[in-house]
Formats: sequence, structure tokens, C-alpha cells
Amino acid sequence: MSARAGIVVTGTEVLTGRIQDRNGPWLADQLLELGVELAHITICGDRPADIAAQLRFLAAAGVDLIVTSGGLGPTADDLTVATVAEFCGRQLILDAALEERIAEILRKLMAGRAGADVDFDAVRAANRKQALVPVGAEVLAPIGTAPGVVVPGATGGTPAIVVLPGPPRELQPMWSRAVATEAVQQAISGRTVYRQETVRMYGLPESRLAETLRDAEQSVAGFDGLEITTCLRRGELEIVTRYEPDAVGVYGDLVALLRDRHGDAVYSVDGATVDQQVATLLVDRRIATAESCTAGLLAARLTELPGSSDYFAGGVVAYANEAKAELLNVDPVLIAEHGAVSEPVAEAMATGAIHHLGADTAVAITGIAGPGGGSPDKPVGTVCFTVRADGVTLTRTVRLPGSRADIRERSTTVAMHLLRRALLDGAAKG
Ligand code: ATP
Ligand code: MG
Repeated sequence: MSARAGIVVTGTEVLTGRIQDRNGPWLADQLLELGVELAHITICGDRPADIAAQLRFLAAAGVDLIVTSGGLGPTADDLTVATVAEFCGRQLILDAALEERIAEILRKLMAGRAGADVDFDAVRAANRKQALVPVGAEVLAPIGTAPGVVVPGATGGTPAIVVLPGPPRELQPMWSRAVATEAVQQAISGRTVYRQETVRMYGLPESRLAETLRDAEQSVAGFDGLEITTCLRRGELEIVTRYEPDAVGVYGDLVALLRDRHGDAVYSVDGATVDQQVATLLVDRRIATAESCTAGLLAARLTELPGSSDYFAGGVVAYANEAKAELLNVDPVLIAEHGAVSEPVAEAMATGAIHHLGADTAVAITGIAGPGGGSPDKPVGTVCFTVRADGVTLTRTVRLPGSRADIRERSTTVAMHLLRRALLDGAAKG
């Protein structure tokens, strides 16, 4: 038994790339969590013929459930409900109670608009359209003004279809109500309840992981019961594994193998990110940053950590050499001797940040992220890091690939891991 679903994202603004689709990925995640297999996400414009084509395609693929997003508004180009009704061979009928409910919402909305001389009857007529519901469908009460609908599946006929509004802030709360309906529950009754766990690794090439996973196929009994997805993100490896509850032992064997082969690279087996781990390690500390090429990105990342206002003092962005000297007390002679991108300068920047901001912990980053800034011995992507925490000083130089944006983002990840390392070392020292 299993349950499969498809998602149809509608909207010409999404199709043309003017706005980025947020509903497809969000719904995909929700379906995964429910144990429903997602077959396709399709995107089309507002044209009914195109929407109908996607519905036909997904129904032919044998999905049990289709979820649509968008096209529920009052205007003439919002035609999703009518298209779905036609596809399912159901007539549209006016739901008088729903019409009254929408009118009530509109009255309140308009009362809030100062000096509005809107023709209320005209607005109401336009919204009457939103109260047209396919026969036998269940209405999902509006979050904004547009109600959603759930059309039950028909044995041997069309799959169940959940029709949701386009704005994510409306779609998301409505989704949980849709899931609770009888029609959806029935459509997804074949779903499998999976467990999902995440291992995070840092500092291991993806190819080495692939090799270990190939070996695991042979050495871990029951390996077939694990559905493993690996993904390279922000310079880290994320290994997400889904399995049915009785394969928990198999998963344990896999994690043991990963630890055995790659020891230190495995930094999290409970899903916690390096940011979450660092947040825990920073409790009762006071940290400051000194950044050159990352221009405050690390500081921004630190402010997003839970509890950051308790331990993050602030950061200095010092780009020009004079700024490093003036704001962080970096000796100009040091810069002249070693270059602004060098380990001694990174160390001096960290020291400067500690003094300047009265911190006990500091991270400094100086590197070459932009095109044109490199030299033969320090090409673009060369970045120096220093972390100082109590008695521990860790300094590294790395060479990062990619564009300016890639190098900067990866730099913040390297910095987080170096910080984690330093704080753990400090803790080990007592
Ligand atoms: P409305 O009553 O607002 O017209 P609707 O259900 O008709 O609701 P759409 O017209 O398809 O929704 O989209 C309205 C707005 O919602 C879009 O302009 C866009 O800002 C946002 N939106 C729609 N679909 C998506 C999507 N897939 N991802 C992100 N935002 C979306
Ligand atoms: Mg619309």
C-alpha cells in the first residue's frame, strides 16, 4: 500500500518567474511528513486549458490526491475551482451560507478602509463567484477572502483534489484543515508512516561519502529498507534517511558505519545544525566578530541563532586596510608585511574585536571573495579565519570555490565550524 500525490501550482506570475514558487516546496514537505509519496510538481499559468491538462496528466499518472495552489480570487482570471469542477464532472452551485460569510469578511475589510467609496454591491457580485462550489465538495473556510475546496475522489474516476489559494499565508493554515477532511484522509489512507533522520557532515568530499554508501549496500544487512538522500548544502553534507519503523536497527548500523569511517566529519546525528550547536556552546559567553570580505554576513548569521541577544555583542566590518587599523587596531606594518588576507592579520582582527567589544570570544574573517582581487599565491576564494575563545586560538586558511556569493556564504559556514571546534576544545580543556 502507498499513497501518491501531485501538486499543480498555478499562476502566470509564478510560471514567468516573476515570483518564486513557495507553495510547491512547502506542500512537498508536508506530504513527505504525512508519508505520502510525491509524484510531480507542475507549474502552469492561469489558463483553464493548461490547468486542465495538468489535472489530466496527474490523474493519468495514477495519483490518489492532487493539490492545487492559486486562482481562487474574485477576478475573471481566477478559474481554478471552475476548471476542477469541470474536470471532475461536477456542477458548480452557489453556497448561500458561504456567500454570506464572504460578504461579512468584505464588509469588515472595507470598514477598515478610510474614505472608501467603493460600490459594495459590485464587490459583492465579484465575490459571489468565490461562493460557487462543486457539488459534493467540502468548503475550507477562507483565511483571506477566498475559500478552498476539497473534491472527494471517485473510485475508478478522478483523484481527490484539494484546491487552495495562492498566497502562502492563506494556503498554509488551510492545508491542515484540508488534511483533516474525510475526503483527503480517504485518499491518503494507503500512506506509510516513515521515520526520518538527518546526519550532518562537514569536511568530507561527497565522493567519499558515496563510496561509503556503496560499501554499506554490501555490509549493512537490510540496507534496502533505507531511503537515503544526500545533498551538498552550504558546504556541508546532509544525509536524510527515511525508513519504516522496523528498520530502526538497520539505520543504527548505517550511522555506526558513517562514524566508524568518517569520525570527526560526522558532527550531528540528531538533525541539529551547526548553528544550533554553536548557539548552545555560546551560552554564558560574549562573542564579537571582525569581518572583511563577508561584510557582516557572519554577524547576520549569529543574530539569527536562538538566544543571540544574550551572547552576541556585535561585529566590526573592516574592509579597507585603514579601517582594519582604525577600528580593530591591526598594525599597518603587519598588513604591509603579510597582506590584508593573511593569518597574522586574521589573528589581529580577532584580538581587536575582543578588545573593542569587551568580548571573550571572537571570530575574524579576511579573504578574497570578489573577482579581480586575487594574485597567483592568493587566488580568489582564499580566506583566512581566526577564532579566539579563552585560551584557544584556531587559525585556518582555506580556498573556497564559486562566485562571490558562494565564497561569502561558505566562509560563514567555515567560521561556524571553526567556532564550534574552538568552543568544544575549550570545554574539553575545562
Ligand atoms: P487572490 O485572492 O489573492 O487573487 P488567489 O488564490 O487567486 O488569491 P493567486 O491570484 O494565484 O491567488 O495569487 C495571489 C498572490 O499570491 C500572487 O500574486 C503571489 O503574490 C502569491 N502567490 C500565489 N502563488 C504563489 C506561489 N506558488 N508561491 C508564492 N506566492 C504565491
Ligand atoms: Mg488571483
